[in-house]
Amino acid sequence: MNNPQNITANEDSRVIPAWSIAAAGLAFLLVEYYFWFVLPEQKDHPPIGFRIYFSLSWGALAALYFLMVGYVSKDAPRRGMSWRFWTIICFVMPAGIGAVLYFLLRAPLISRCPACSAHVQSDFHFCPQCDYQLAASCGTCYSTVRSTDQFCTRCGHELATDHMPARLRVLGE
Ligand SMILES: [Zn+2]
Ligand SMILES: [Zn+2]
Repeated sequence: MNNPQNITANEDSRVIPAWSIAAAGLAFLLVEYYFWFVLPEQKDHPPIGFRIYFSLSWGALAALYFLMVGYVSKDAPRRGMSWRFWTIICFVMPAGIGAVLYFLLRAPLISRCPACSAHVQSDFHFCPQCDYQLAASCGTCYSTVRSTDQFCTRCGHELATDHMPARLRVLGE
C-alpha cells in the first residue's frame, strides 16, 4: 500500500537544493578562512579561544543562511507563492527576518485532486471543482477525522451513521 506520509517525507528530503548546500559549505569555509588566515595577520588579533568560538558560530550562521534561502526557493512554489519574491526578501532582510516572515505568511501546500487534477490546498476536505472527497471528515461538523475513529473528536457525532463510502472514499482505497 502506498503510504502518503512516506511520499511527503521523500519530497521533504529534496527540498533543500544542491546549490544552496554548496553555497552553505562555501560560506562556512570562507568564514573559517577569515578567522584562521586573514585575522591572525592583523596586529592586535584576538586570542585563540575567541577565534574558535566565533569562527564556528559565525560559520554555522552563514551556512544556515544559505540553506534557508535554498529551502524557501524550493518550498514557495509548492505553495503557489512566488519563489523569486521570497528568496529576495530572505536575502535582503537582515538577521533572518525574511525567513521568519516567510514561515508566518506561507500558504498551505498545494497538490492536485486525484479525480480532476485541479489545484487543491492541503487543508481542503473536498475538491472545489468536482466535489471529490480529499480527506475523511465528520458528517455533521466537517472537521477532519481518522478513518479508524468511531466518533468525531470535535462534536461527538457517531461516524458510522455517515455514508461509509463517502467517509472512507480516499483512505479506504
Ligand atoms: Zn477534483
Ligand atoms: Zn463532528
